[in-house]
Amino acid sequence: MTQGSAKPARFPLALERVGQAGSAAKPRETLRPQRPLHEAARDARARTVPQGLGLDSALVRQRMVQRLRGEGIRCEPVFAAMDKVPRHLFVDTALAIQAYEDTSLPIGHGQTISKPSVVARMIELLFDGASARAAGHLGRTLEVGTGCGYQTALLAQLARRVVSIERLRPLYDKAVLNLAPWRLDHVRLVYGDGMLGHGPNAPYDSLVAAAGGDDLPPAWLAQLAVGGRLVAPMHRWGGRGQVLVVVDRHEGGLVRTEHESVHFVPLKSGVV
Ligand code: SAH
Repeated sequence: MTQGSAKPARFPLALERVGQAGSAAKPRETLRPQRPLHEAARDARARTVPQGLGLDSALVRQRMVQRLRGEGIRCEPVFAAMDKVPRHLFVDTALAIQAYEDTSLPIGHGQTISKPSVVARMIELLFDGASARAAGHLGRTLEVGTGCGYQTALLAQLARRVVSIERLRPLYDKAVLNLAPWRLDHVRLVYGDGMLGHGPNAPYDSLVAAAGGDDLPPAWLAQLAVGGRLVAPMHRWGGRGQVLVVVDRHEGGLVRTEHESVHFVPLKSGVV
């Protein structure tokens, strides 16, 4: 038993023994704490729509939709879209845990992603417009205030064409990134002042704004198609908060109605 009788090595080792031990050892396998780059690239190419947290996130989305049903919203198409679009992928990772609560969340630059119940309610109101009721979809749609792009992703499921405008460059860039994996050919993101609407794709069957001013910009009314409907937050006269305003364009002209109180970020002119 020569091995058993060998004395254990003592430190410091003589240099020649260090050399011997190294040469006797088997060559080590390369450790791979990350996947090889070509595999990661292959997976990224194969990805179509973000899967988020997988099954768990699908379940929390279903629960969110159940809650909205319980609150009296009656709009199956918007529920189907909310079931499909993972809201947590549109907010900062640190806030993902709150993404399915009925709360607005910061998206940077002083802006917020709207509460799911308010988004659902606005889309429900859009679906009650004459053209949308007849067609069963929102048709040609203009969204003012893209923000992080969450509502845009919902509208993309519900409309034939979506134009969405954002005045803050960093948020426009963020929405472009957030929506890229969905490959939405019928959605056009525009960096610009939404108070001017978007003439090249007008008229619109549906127009929805995620920011509220004192008045409805004339361009929105001008770009609304006959049978079309606009839904936007607007300040009440005398500084008494905001309400959701609905405007329908009929053959004979515009009809305006006021709905519930809301709280949206301000509509501002110009681009930043
Ligand atoms: N629906 C968005 C909500 C974003 S908050 C989401 O899901 O994230 C409202 C957005 O309206 C902000 O990003 C703000 O910059 C934008 N906004 C305000 N005034 C605007 C204007 N005149 N034109 C375009 N966007 C505007």
